[in-house]
Amino acid sequence: MKLPKSIVILGRKFSVKVVKHELTVDGKAASGVTDTVNRIIEIEHGLPLREQLGILSHEIGHATLSINGLSETLTDREVEIVCQTCRSVVEDFVKAFNKR
Ligand SMILES: [Zn+2]
Repeated sequence: MKLPKSIVILGRKFSVKVVKHELTVDGKAASGVTDTVNRIIEIEHGLPLREQLGILSHEIGHATLSINGLSETLTDREVEIVCQTCRSVVEDFVKAFNKR
């Protein structure tokens, strides 16, 4: 199984790229980055698929909050909490799905 090459988030198509170059957000190293202007989600290369899926889930949160405008009203910390919650929900879902 691999990550999808693209994903539709609230009707907008984002490219999903696993990249070998260093990813940073506000100058800090990151495992995933969402470019909401160009609609590209980049994920660090070389991580287990489960981790990449978790990162993708987090980045989908960033894309969603950008599209619906909430990222403009929330603090950076609140945005990160929402995105980590998205990740946890997906991870719990995948665990439950795999147990069937
Ligand atoms: Zn984040």
